[in-house]
Amino acid sequence: MRAALAVTLGVSLFAGVPAIAQEPITVFAGRVLDGKGNQWKNATVVVDNGRIIRIEPRPVDHPTFSFPKGTLLPGLIDTHVHLGAYVTKKGRMHVPDDGDSPATAALAGAANAYRTLLAGFTTVASIGADDDKELRDWLEQTGAPGPKILTSLDPITDPSLPPEALRALVDRKAQAGADLIKVFASKSIREGGAATLTDRQLEAVCGEAKAKGLRVIVHAHSAESIKTSVLAGCGQIEHGVFATAEVLKLMAEHGTVFDPQCGLIFRNYLDHRQWFQGLGNFTAEGFAAMERAIPLAVAVIRAALATPTLKLAFGTDQVAGAAGRNAEDLVCRVREAGQRPMDAIVSATSVNAQALGLEKVTGSLGPGLLADLVAVNGNPLDDMSELSRIVFVMRAGQVYRYDPTLSSGGTLRPRP
Ligand SMILES: [Zn+2]
Repeated sequence: MRAALAVTLGVSLFAGVPAIAQEPITVFAGRVLDGKGNQWKNATVVVDNGRIIRIEPRPVDHPTFSFPKGTLLPGLIDTHVHLGAYVTKKGRMHVPDDGDSPATAALAGAANAYRTLLAGFTTVASIGADDDKELRDWLEQTGAPGPKILTSLDPITDPSLPPEALRALVDRKAQAGADLIKVFASKSIREGGAATLTDRQLEAVCGEAKAKGLRVIVHAHSAESIKTSVLAGCGQIEHGVFATAEVLKLMAEHGTVFDPQCGLIFRNYLDHRQWFQGLGNFTAEGFAAMERAIPLAVAVIRAALATPTLKLAFGTDQVAGAAGRNAEDLVCRVREAGQRPMDAIVSATSVNAQALGLEKVTGSLGPGLLADLVAVNGNPLDDMSELSRIVFVMRAGQVYRYDPTLSSGGTLRPRP
């Protein structure tokens, strides 16, 4: 009864107020994973005022929420999404000047944020659009449902800019409210992925960002672009479809985080060609390049897993049509790239929190951390696809989803 009440309040009055403000909330599960590789059987997470107070390694009487056969873990984190990307009512990827109003685009972003939260992702880095800032600020100010959002604003892409102009651009983004910086050091995979920036340009971007206390996420496919970025002191490499053993080792030596995608990004494009075909570099050649990339991407993750001390983050590059399907890339990591299930979960929780500089805020279970919790009915260590069927989502102590009877599916769908 109490659980039902909490959920009703939690979902309908999402004004950022904890569902039951006065007494601690207790969440019991048959298995609790802490996001750092540890697990308890039959444990209870105690939450008060939006934060985790403690973890009791035992059941408690009358827990607020109970998943006796299920698994409780920290809210998932995706270090690479595009919340503003969506498929229009005409069945095409939204692009500027396609006739959709700014209001429609903003509502699509809010719906994507909600979908992503319901899918168990309580924190994301949305890297690639100025509009992400307004979405971030609006959700924070209103308490409307969505993940915590970090944004890079528009990425830095212009290879013709000299170092001084790049430094100035980083400064402007910092002043405009960017949480991190995204820079393209190589072309798109659909255009071959070759290096686009010199060492001096990358030193300017990553050096200036560091001076401003911002992390840099670098889009880099070719081995050369990765090597240049690592040596320029950039913190994180995205994609890396053409990474070699040599540059994977270089990343490990420099403590550079690697964020490869396993398959969702390519499959979403290839399974829904009609949404994208003919727009920009979504040409026949571009699609062929993505088909060729699928086995390469899996092989790179295998090679990365075999590289000692390399830090592997988890980012899906969730684009138009993929919001809420983020966990599918964790399934790919385990089933196709051979990552241990516990390690895949650690990637998507504590490693990601560290990559985003949020390790003292979220990404694991411990006293003082935000109560960002998700639950599934089964055991993801046995079957990773459990994470595609999230039944409970709490963000900062606020419950947004409680579907203990859910057996399949899991995201928002249009009404029939
Ligand atoms: Zn992206």
